[in-house]
Amino acid sequence: MALSQRIRKLKPYVAGEQPQDRVYLKLNTNENPYPPSAKVQDALRTFDSERLRLYPDPLCRGLRRRLAEKYGLSPEEVFVSNGSDEVLSFCFYAFFDSTEGKLLFPEVTYSFYPVYCDYYGIAFETVPLSPSLSLDLRGFLGKNPSCGIIFANPNTPTGTCLPLGEVTRLLQNYPPSKAVVIDEAYIDFGGESALPLLSDFSNLLIVRTFSKSMSLAGLRLGFAMGRKELIQALFAAKDAFNSYPVNTLTQLIGEMALSDEPYYNAITGKIIATRERFSKALLGLGWHVLPSKANFVFASKKGIPGKKVYSKLKEAGILVRHFDKERTRDFIRITIGKDEDMDRLIDSLANLFS
Ligand SMILES: *Cc1c(COP(=O)(O)O)cnc(C)c1O
Repeated sequence: MALSQRIRKLKPYVAGEQPQDRVYLKLNTNENPYPPSAKVQDALRTFDSERLRLYPDPLCRGLRRRLAEKYGLSPEEVFVSNGSDEVLSFCFYAFFDSTEGKLLFPEVTYSFYPVYCDYYGIAFETVPLSPSLSLDLRGFLGKNPSCGIIFANPNTPTGTCLPLGEVTRLLQNYPPSKAVVIDEAYIDFGGESALPLLSDFSNLLIVRTFSKSMSLAGLRLGFAMGRKELIQALFAAKDAFNSYPVNTLTQLIGEMALSDEPYYNAITGKIIATRERFSKALLGLGWHVLPSKANFVFASKKGIPGKKVYSKLKEAGILVRHFDKERTRDFIRITIGKDEDMDRLIDSLANLFS
């Protein structure tokens, strides 16, 4: 067969299910239960298809200007691309070089990280979580030489979030010549962002997405914030791969979404309130629930394997996510939907497992 050695050895990422066979209550891939802003709908309705005749702006200037305004940066400190998965992929290419040591990330985290390492031939080493399954940044410091660090804060699938003080201590004690990438896909749901640290640490890069808090997972838009030199490196990586990863419509819709902060604050507030209410209800049913600052919770019930919970719920028409690895096996990850979605889940769990 006409396949390269590379593709024969490749281990691709396995995304959460997007089933087409029946209608499920989807609480498995951390999509937002609320629609995008009405301004997004208006932009789609009034979009002139004539604009699609030309290539999009490869520098995404309008969108980067808006993001820079929102976060108090200059546009040269902002990069955008086709989903934060693609931004992350460019980060791995641009910053991590295992001739200088291994890349470090937590043993339990976003399962795309080892896939990018495999893709780019980057050696890595994982750092244990604390016994309570929170990130333990001290583990990153004893392991020099390393070629960089990446972690998600809040982490996934656990949902726990480290305070800014601990992230600051990590950066203060890590060589400034090696990149530290913080994946803040879930930061809008109540965590403390590392954004204030950008002015002090030239090796810090923050990656975010429009998929979760902005309700635009289908749009594919992600961004990164950091010093100009790091952002230029991401542009170089992009331009060696695809000059136009962010299409004209996506750039416009991204700008429209950013112009409706009150709406997004409101739906984010609702999701946080639902998360707190749902977590209490789960605790009431005797579940163990990790403290979450994300739009999902990670929970387990003594004596019932996560896989069994997953399959029973699937039979009942509710999808959650199970990660079949040593430290996550007992748990399921549950995306926070609307109040009525979570009430339905609580009823099912009460019926199935009490
Ligand atoms: C969902 C998620 C992403 C991917 O976001 P996209 O912008 O949809 O590609 C990246 N990192 C983490 C930790 C995520 O959970």
